[in-house]
Amino acid sequence: MSILPIRQLPDLILKQKAKKVRRIDSSINRLIADMLETMYAASGVGLAANQIGVLQRVIVIHLPEDELPIVYINPVITSREGEREVEEGCLSIPGYRGFIMRAVQVKSKGQNQEGKIVKITADGLLSQAIEHEIDHLNGILYVDHLTNHNKLEKLPPDNGSMDSMLTTR
Ligand code: ZN
Repeated sequence: MSILPIRQLPDLILKQKAKKVRRIDSSINRLIADMLETMYAASGVGLAANQIGVLQRVIVIHLPEDELPIVYINPVITSREGEREVEEGCLSIPGYRGFIMRAVQVKSKGQNQEGKIVKITADGLLSQAIEHEIDHLNGILYVDHLTNHNKLEKLPPDNGSMDSMLTTR
């Protein structure tokens, strides 16, 4: 396992679409271990493979209140319900936060590290994190959802910007 540098804007890999994982082999398992290590080192709650420069459809999420992380391979959103404004940050856009619209609840489907199909119905921070990280796999950043420049704010220098750390207040 190693901590890898997190790609930041304007790195164009963040704007690229990741490819479907065909086989969960040792390279994918190593990727997952590296992503978890890198996410923890950055105190993030989520990370997508693009963020460490790998175009494979893998995301990891670890909410502060959860004991274990979620490893989600080839995740897709199957339905979205409702709309709410949330506060959001991204490890690839340090020093900023924005206010964007996200769903109230999302249903999603993907595979776990063993290749089994997993379905997650989520609301709150988990729902936001799933949308944020799957967006990364599609080359979309939260700033792409900004409707107005006033909705993006620069944070004071000592304020870490964590992936999806910020949520509705
Ligand atoms: Zn992000």
